[in-house]
Amino acid sequence: MSKKVVVLGLDGFNPELVDRWRDELPNLSSMMNEGMYGDLCSTVPPITPQAWTCALSGVNPGKYGFWNFGYRDEFVYGEPKLINSKEVKVDTLYDILPRYGRKVAIINVPVTYPPIEIPNGYCISCFLTPSIESQFTHPASLREEVEALVGEYIIDASTSDSNYRTMDKDRVLKRIYDMDEQRFTLMKHFIKEKNCDYLFTVIMGTDRMPHLFYRYFDEKHVYYDPDPRYKDALKNHYKYVDKNIGEIRELLDDNTVFIVHSDHSVQRLDGRINLNEWLIEEGYMKVNTYPDKLTPLRNCDIDWSQTKAWATGYTGQIYLNMRHREPQGVIEPRDYHKVLDELTEKMKAITGPNGEKLNTQVFRRTEIHPGPRSRFGPDLFMNFDECRWNISELIGYGRGVLYSHETTLGPDDGGHGQYGFFAMAGPGIPGLGKLQNLDLRDIAPTVLSIMGIEVPEDMEGNVLVKKSENGAYSEEDEDEIKKRLANLGYLG
Ligand SMILES: [Zn+2]
Repeated sequence: MSKKVVVLGLDGFNPELVDRWRDELPNLSSMMNEGMYGDLCSTVPPITPQAWTCALSGVNPGKYGFWNFGYRDEFVYGEPKLINSKEVKVDTLYDILPRYGRKVAIINVPVTYPPIEIPNGYCISCFLTPSIESQFTHPASLREEVEALVGEYIIDASTSDSNYRTMDKDRVLKRIYDMDEQRFTLMKHFIKEKNCDYLFTVIMGTDRMPHLFYRYFDEKHVYYDPDPRYKDALKNHYKYVDKNIGEIRELLDDNTVFIVHSDHSVQRLDGRINLNEWLIEEGYMKVNTYPDKLTPLRNCDIDWSQTKAWATGYTGQIYLNMRHREPQGVIEPRDYHKVLDELTEKMKAITGPNGEKLNTQVFRRTEIHPGPRSRFGPDLFMNFDECRWNISELIGYGRGVLYSHETTLGPDDGGHGQYGFFAMAGPGIPGLGKLQNLDLRDIAPTVLSIMGIEVPEDMEGNVLVKKSENGAYSEEDEDEIKKRLANLGYLG
């Protein structure tokens, strides 16, 4: 009998925090002891929409063409289009599995609005759903079942009139638990009632919580606040997730493999580099009128005919203003790599506000993101100090002001880190313990392989376990797999 796979996606779940609190996370810990686990390298940049799409497709963002919530598909200034499910133009697990007659359900997976019309399957769309008035389920009739089970569906911690980052802490805390409880309830309901071959649910509270509550337990946080009411807020949420992991495992039959993984981590954020301010200071960008308040790039009065580069994003992306490409391009094509070299060197030399060295990595799109939709993407990506410093694209902090802690969205305690969490256990999954060099692109081929389905050649990730046969591995199988994983660099 072909195996089934249940995946619990934990947005922003941080393997370092699992390590720190592992004694208090018994269910996750036993899963890690029984099966395999490790740090899971995310996409660059490690941002939610393209990261989950990467996990579902097994390919890099150059093949689907978005690196952020906004994107461009023509050479305009900025990222004017908002990502939605219709723009995911690569094969994902929810496309492939139904072709093999497998029954699929996806709940709250980012970039599934409008809801995916999965043949013989189910979709409850994600936090990119405009409002509760929108059709957020497939089939449409599933909505009634959802509401009968959990009441009015909570799309996200933020409401239409209130940003979760500035909401009263007790109110937002309750809202996050209410929201996550709905997802766990639905996930358990689907396991019990729907008999799906592949069920994938994403929990968002694991991302929202550290963005709000990191300062209360990490003494190194720039805004460390010893307020006893919230000291354990984040840990308690990890324990709440762990309790649910235990309850979910209880419901799974002997034929189901269980995977828990995140899309990136959320870690302590030390601050932001105001990257467009830096580009102005360094002579790469010219503004006609310097704004008198914090202003997004799209609303600034930029002299594009004298601008070589602009920055967007969360961890940091830079686009060059290329002649024959952007409307008022100024950089000659022959100088493309020269300008990238120059920017790379200068950005690596940026220090913290007290002159401290930052461990900054800079990547070129042409090197890390090959694919048919790559060409409209940012030319350069950067992780300042392993993402402990994010960027702000706003202009108006004051000329030459390079560092900030807040954007117009309010304070942010946590920033996204490059390495998420991964654990897998169940029938046929050998107890290999901690693996090295795991990549988000490994998820989709691994799921297919467990389910006995051939992995498409263009998937870039590796299969962590071979095709499902009859239950557990023999000792010889296990030896063979260990050797193969060692050769791939997974076993340390
Ligand atoms: Zn995320």
